[in-house]
Amino acid sequence: MTAAPVLALSSAPSAHRPRRSVRGRQLWWLGAVVVIWATSLVVLAVWVAGGEVQSLLAGRADALNSVGRAAGLASANLLFSQVLLMARVPLFERGFGRDGITRMHRIVGFWSFALFIAHIGLQILGYAAQAGIDPVAQAWQFVWDYPGMLLATAGTGLLLLVVVTSVRKARKRLRYESWHLLHLYGYLGVGLAIPHMLWTGADFTGSPAATVYWWAMWGGTAATVIVFRLGLPLARSLRHGIRVRAVERDGQSGVSVRMTGRRLDALKARGGQFFVWRFLDGAGWTRGHPFSLATDPANGELVISARFVGDGTQRLAALRPGTRVLIEGPYGTMTADERRGGHLLMIGAGAGVAPLVAMLEEADWAPGEATLIVRDHTAADALRAEAIDRLVRERGLRHAPLPGRRALTTSSWLPTSHAQWAGADLIRYVSPRPADTDVFLCGPPSWMDAVRADLRRAGVPAERVHLEAFTV
Ligand SMILES: Cc1cc2nc3c(=O)[nH]c(=O)nc-3n(C[C@H](O)[C@H](O)[C@H](O)COP(=O)(O)OP(=O)(O)OC[C@H]3O[C@@H](n4cnc5c(N)ncnc54)[C@H](O)[C@@H]3O)c2cc1C
Repeated sequence: MTAAPVLALSSAPSAHRPRRSVRGRQLWWLGAVVVIWATSLVVLAVWVAGGEVQSLLAGRADALNSVGRAAGLASANLLFSQVLLMARVPLFERGFGRDGITRMHRIVGFWSFALFIAHIGLQILGYAAQAGIDPVAQAWQFVWDYPGMLLATAGTGLLLLVVVTSVRKARKRLRYESWHLLHLYGYLGVGLAIPHMLWTGADFTGSPAATVYWWAMWGGTAATVIVFRLGLPLARSLRHGIRVRAVERDGQSGVSVRMTGRRLDALKARGGQFFVWRFLDGAGWTRGHPFSLATDPANGELVISARFVGDGTQRLAALRPGTRVLIEGPYGTMTADERRGGHLLMIGAGAGVAPLVAMLEEADWAPGEATLIVRDHTAADALRAEAIDRLVRERGLRHAPLPGRRALTTSSWLPTSHAQWAGADLIRYVSPRPADTDVFLCGPPSWMDAVRADLRRAGVPAERVHLEAFTV
């Protein structure tokens, strides 16, 4: 091992300029917020035009119903936005990045659900007050006597299931596959909950413009999901005819899978990006797993490198050459395009080294300009060792493997062998000009949080830290 403290340092200026910046992502975020607010306001304008403001003053029952309808409209609008965000539309994936989409999906989902619950509660109370009956009896009547409400109740149940299982505590107890399957029921929930408003809601049927808007939203969202979550991946997989070429051990607890296919360049995949892979090797093939590209895709093959974690990764080791592969992607925004210049510092833990190596192979940098720090439990676990050696020999990469147990210090991302180091000092040691350093980071979220804290202390600007979390 070459420990970080004995690295010979050098750094040459670089001509790299980012093609897509953090600011670009912030603009996407802002654009989405504006669109979501604007459509919500349009929807509320239709509510006002339908005379709902007057209803607010017409008595308790009318007011409850009126506010309940407004909550329902806003909730439905957010529900559509939420589904659209997760529809894997390539433009959104490139614009927001997967992390950004997931974050916005959670925020929009929270508000959509809160308004949805308010809608149900207020409508029950409002109708019960109007009819002078018990709210429970009113809820019962809603379900059985109103068109589309039985479906809506089933949809509500499914959406509740999605929300409850997504609460962090519950999420941790569930296997990923179970959680994901339940989450997919959310689509069915939306599909079932929405028709009642299209059939009976006064605000939907009252004006032709409103009817067109809501049916277009419903149809457009359904079509987007079908095209981008099913159609495009299937068409891409058929077009490129990807198959396993070879399976090789990678370190003592990992495996690499090399794949070939037709016209792979047309995928326009980049080092640092990932695909969701489905290997057609028998029962269970439907469970896709995300893995990053582990080599520069311009080399003419697609390679992934995985650390054994559970059945999905262990299964990779048993793949036979010739196995067909379905792909979804490429996804992810952590590519060399994010680089601004100066020193290039890659810090990875475990399998997180794979996309960093692919980026190093693809990117342009001078000898001594790039440093790769790799954390592993043991040296024998290290993935991509051969590719890294090649980068050291042929391109002058500075490699600092840091295997070992985690240090019990504030810089807990370091191993015990470096426990005497403050993480920020170590970063400044390998990158003496932290303000002029691009950092690419990949590993478990808590480990990345610890590295980011030290990067901040060392003086690396936040906008020059780029990361990919191997978790959803
Ligand atoms: C964007 C991204 C890129 C990744 N790239 C790599 C890589 O290059 N190399 C590598 O070894 N690992 C990578 N991973 C992690 C890898 O997807 C999981 O380790 C793998 O899916 C585990 O599956 P399993 O059945 O072996 O383990 P399980 O025991 O089933 O799962 C272990 C954990 O892995 C996660 N996981 C499981 N299935 C999925 C899934 N379908 N989607 C997302 N997360 C899942 C869950 O957090 C789960 O708790 C990446 C993950 C993401 C999100």
